[in-house]
Amino acid sequence: DRKVVIVGAGMAGVQTAVALREQGWTGDISLLGAESHPPYDRPPLSKTVLLGKADGSAFDVDFAALGIDLELGRRVSGVRPAERLVQTDAGPVPYGHLVIATGAEPIALPGSEGVPGVHVLRTLDDAERLRPVLAAQRDIVVVGAGWIGAEFATAAREAGCAVTVVEAAERPLAGALPAEVAAHMVGWYADSGAVLRTGARVSAVEHGVVLLDDGTRLPAGAVVVGIGARPATDWLLGSGIALAPDRSILADDALRASVPGVYAVGDCVSFPSARYGQRLLVHHWDNALQGPRTVAAHIVGGEAANFTGPVYDPVPYFWSEQFGRFVQYAGHHTAADTLVWRGDPTSAAWTVCWLREGVLIALLAVGRPRDLTQGRKLIERGAGLDTTRAADPSIPLKSA
Ligand code: FAD
Repeated sequence: DRKVVIVGAGMAGVQTAVALREQGWTGDISLLGAESHPPYDRPPLSKTVLLGKADGSAFDVDFAALGIDLELGRRVSGVRPAERLVQTDAGPVPYGHLVIATGAEPIALPGSEGVPGVHVLRTLDDAERLRPVLAAQRDIVVVGAGWIGAEFATAAREAGCAVTVVEAAERPLAGALPAEVAAHMVGWYADSGAVLRTGARVSAVEHGVVLLDDGTRLPAGAVVVGIGARPATDWLLGSGIALAPDRSILADDALRASVPGVYAVGDCVSFPSARYGQRLLVHHWDNALQGPRTVAAHIVGGEAANFTGPVYDPVPYFWSEQFGRFVQYAGHHTAADTLVWRGDPTSAAWTVCWLREGVLIALLAVGRPRDLTQGRKLIERGAGLDTTRAADPSIPLKSA
């Protein structure tokens, strides 16, 4: 059957449909999305859209012209791989190939569900609910100093809100960056006029107030919870499609799920990385751009005999815009044995390089986009780095 059904019309789903046409797929393509808005890009939500600088961020894709059957407001509730069909609220839909691109959903703060004035930031609807909160310059408590918390705090300060960020760990971005690096981001909050309370746990959220376990009562005209997201895969339980303990779809190195004819891409899937020697679950935009090209290549090429398609083993990349800074990261640093500072981390622009056995494996650049571009290429090549030269920010990053 030459029908591809894609579940989830976010970045990864849309890019899969587009990549299939770019790579010459002539069969039917159905793109089923639960949200009612035309498919849109998420990064602008916490940046321009929140502040009303942009109304939306719809993708510039002409679905009709590409022969993509886009069905919005269509939630898929299950899949029966043996019969090759998905169940939707409007009845079953058969597929030849299934691509799961349901992304991730925010983790709720226990005890805050249903309390008025508590928000998350994942969808355009979320951003539209938060816009008037910012415009009214409410006192805001942000729970979680991760990427979303930092970007939201930035926008709220720009809007003139009083902002307190509550973080259970001893520093921001504790799950993403080592202490010696994240320590230099603490001051960014204060510089912007936000209060960062680290090592602080929320004990309860009530209407208009956040209680911390040291007894502090923080007045909150609104609460924004940014404590992480997890793959939106509950609807796959019992389907026979294997999930990892973190609930990501357990895919192989070509983003194939555990049953024939099913692929997964974007924020909902984890895949084995030979490059990093571990399974990766990546929640960043670039992964939702690159993964679809691999999936499309397998679907299109899989019709040919003896086809061995491309392996998906990217150097992960993402960026964040926070507190007036452009922060970019490439690679995966957990296996590093050496850290090299490039520039003064108390200044406006600096870079950190991580090496393993003399080879560059990851890099964080703050306000140094050229370092990122050059470093990313070196990481892709597995290039060695002279640490003395790398520590001099006036010399371009080059292999040893
Ligand atoms: P999603 O974008 O989550 O799309 C999945 C879609 O599937 C959703 O529309 C959902 O409604 C739909 N869906 C879910 N379940 C079903 C179902 N059962 N049936 C039908 N449809 C379903 N990354 C960066 O690298 N840099 C950034 O600066 C950055 N900023 C961000 C800011 C915000 C506010 C957010 C939320 C994310 C940001 N990201 C950023 C991350 C990036 O946006 C995501 O990695 C990317 O959106 C993942 O795309 P996806 O298609 O896998 O998932």
